Amino acid sequence: MVYIKGEEMTRYTMQLILDKWIEPHMDTSSWEYYDLCCKSRDSSEDQVLRDAVEAGKRIKAIFKEPTVTPTEVQKQELGLKQTWGSPNGAMRRGWNGITISRDTIMIEGMELGYKKPVLFERHAVGGEYSAGYATVGKGELRTMFYPKGVKTEDVSHAKMVDVRQLHDEASAVVTYDNPLDNVVDLAHHFFSRCLKARVTPYVVTKKTVFKWQEGFWTRMKETFDEHYRERFREAELLENTGGELRHLISDAATMQLIRWTEGGFGMAAHNYDGDMLTDELAQIHRSPGFITSNLIGKAPDGSIIKEFEASHGTVSDMWLDHLDKEETSLNPLGLVEALIGAMQHAAAITEVPEESAIVDFTTKMRKFIHRAFAVGKGTRDISGPEGLTTEDFVDLVAKALAG
Ligand code: NAD
Repeated sequence: MVYIKGEEMTRYTMQLILDKWIEPHMDTSSWEYYDLCCKSRDSSEDQVLRDAVEAGKRIKAIFKEPTVTPTEVQKQELGLKQTWGSPNGAMRRGWNGITISRDTIMIEGMELGYKKPVLFERHAVGGEYSAGYATVGKGELRTMFYPKGVKTEDVSHAKMVDVRQLHDEASAVVTYDNPLDNVVDLAHHFFSRCLKARVTPYVVTKKTVFKWQEGFWTRMKETFDEHYRERFREAELLENTGGELRHLISDAATMQLIRWTEGGFGMAAHNYDGDMLTDELAQIHRSPGFITSNLIGKAPDGSIIKEFEASHGTVSDMWLDHLDKEETSLNPLGLVEALIGAMQHAAAITEVPEESAIVDFTTKMRKFIHRAFAVGKGTRDISGPEGLTTEDFVDLVAKALAG
């Protein structure tokens, strides 16, 4: 598999985990490592990011530590040549990102925010993230579309998308697009996951007001009706939705996420809505450490690429404490869940003879972490002041794995 290294506290903790949990029990000599810390990107003129994307395309199972996208201040502090862009965008493009799956991590014997699993599918492309924009004054704004092959001077074959009058001294004008071709892939991924996890699926948009969002819903609904409706009915998962796929308006979805703490449902949404709603989900489920974040993409040959990461960042505040020789208590569950996902996916797609041994080992590792949390020997975000430090927690699980 591909292992992407990041920065700060999460890099430090993952190194402890690799040294103490993985290396003593697993042969990792075939893993390919790519270091995406700011200095490594800077010294390679970002070649390391291009190499990581190429390796991901080839190997199709990727684990990624959180990375820092350098700000102007970090550029000065680290002596970088420039403020390198977010690696996540390059990966989503390079791997034809379809969706980012974000699900609750459940711990047996411990109640978190949701009692049963909640699954989330966030469209990985389109929307505000790659918008073109300018700030302009009074005047007329025209948006024209030229089909492929039509020259910009050939106005007769162009389509006027929008004309509007701007009356303010200053207006921010924005254009963006929502690619729809891969929504069918997203639908298959989402509905099959919901069926397997036995949860009720919902599609979230604001199509009542944003009419252009209709295409997302219709593709989801057509795929559902053709391939999944009967199976969901047989599994008795549409009892609350009148036997049909239900649409939720995004503002209503923000409320339902708070009300439906029983869990047992899934939501699929556009890119930006998904970004907001999954942060809300993480808060209700007690911590970003209890949510997965997996990017699902598609290689040119149609095979699936999966990149697994934690949904949180590099935990800079604890890194500063660590550098000041103060105690820290990083909850590694989200990181390790991602590592397990990547290891199991790599084993499954390469069909190695050791696949069942890898599944057994990683399942055992997960069980030991969960048990530590359930008996109050977790990290301090969950177990309170009595909880363990980053290093003590790693040692506790290392001991269980060795025994
Ligand atoms: P963060 O997620 O690192 O931390 C936010 C807060 O949550 C902090 O108080 C932190 O201590 C706490 N926290 C997060 N994860 C935790 C865990 N596993 N255990 C215990 N506490 C935890 O977000 P931030 O501070 O806004 O960002 C720090 C850096 O991470 C920034 O440079 C940012 O660009 C980067 N970042 C990277 C990614 C990514 O690579 N996917 C995502 C988000 C942020």
